[in-house]
Amino acid sequence: MSVIDLRSDTVTQPTAAMRDAMSAAPVGDDVYGEDPSVRALEQRLATELGFERGLFLPSGTQANLAALLAHCQRGDEYLVGMEAHTYKYEGGGAAVLGSIQPQPILNATDGTLPLEVLERSVKPDDPHFARTRLLALENTWHGRVLPQEYVIRAAEWARGRGLAVHLDGARFFNAVVASESTPRELAAPFDSVSVCLSKGLGAPVGSVLVGSATLIAAATRWRKMLGGGMRQSGILAAAGLHALDHHIDRLAEDHARAERLAAGLRGIDSITVQGRFTNMVFIDVPGEHLRALDTHLREAGVRASIGYLPSVRLVTHLDVDDAAVDRAVEVFADFFS
Ligand SMILES: *Cc1c(COP(=O)(O)O)cnc(C)c1O
Repeated sequence: MSVIDLRSDTVTQPTAAMRDAMSAAPVGDDVYGEDPSVRALEQRLATELGFERGLFLPSGTQANLAALLAHCQRGDEYLVGMEAHTYKYEGGGAAVLGSIQPQPILNATDGTLPLEVLERSVKPDDPHFARTRLLALENTWHGRVLPQEYVIRAAEWARGRGLAVHLDGARFFNAVVASESTPRELAAPFDSVSVCLSKGLGAPVGSVLVGSATLIAAATRWRKMLGGGMRQSGILAAAGLHALDHHIDRLAEDHARAERLAAGLRGIDSITVQGRFTNMVFIDVPGEHLRALDTHLREAGVRASIGYLPSVRLVTHLDVDDAAVDRAVEVFADFFS
């Protein structure tokens, strides 16, 4: 039985064409800056997003961490959503490894950090306080595309307060496709953007951080210290280049399939669909059923992220077609009938 894995868009298998591109990639030692495929990937994303330079890193976590370390010094502080990946799901790396204090801000339901709360959170220049240096946003945030008018206003506010602005753009291209914007438009308000290739874009490994030449030089030093300097990593960068060529426009299919999934699940009485945002569907089911639902889904060959709030997250991706969506809806319906 083939499993329909809706836990995350990180579970995709590299396609045959992607594997071909990887095996054909020209490579070199990237720690010496000599891998042509890595350079091509870094330069391409930097150019497309409107920045001077890019840096290929093994993961989104490391890309965000290298960015925070490049923007902030020991004893600095960054403003970040309480439900942001960088704050909540990256092991507290910036605090542990960088002595950078997070100032978590409660996210509004659309993922924004209210400007009046941000304003109250900037610390005065006084030895009692950490030095507020950076604002970090996330787009998409739990699948939601941040309203671009908000992003522009928040970045303007941050600049006015002397703060730099970083975007955790793990699913940046989902936001680009869903909002029918250009990468440049969505990236323009930021000083740095991290983009994951290993989520909806379907590459096996890798993220790219883009920013000014100065910032990327600092991040390159941190990447080395973090153990992320890789050698013939063009093998991996080639998968990223292939994904940029072939897997961006098709993200619209993932979004449509997530909507198809949400529509199917709305037809099941015991399920409350909280929302469908880009390629993610969030549903609530009565808490007492969660454990049994998980078992039922597994036995029927469907995997979901269960146990976070809302109670179930379902994510569509490259390896989920319409038939898989319809089958998943049937399996949920079976459980509740
Ligand atoms: C997945 C993710 C990351 C981290 O990426 P990894 O490659 O898993 O380390 C960062 N931010 C967001 C919003 C993510 O979804």
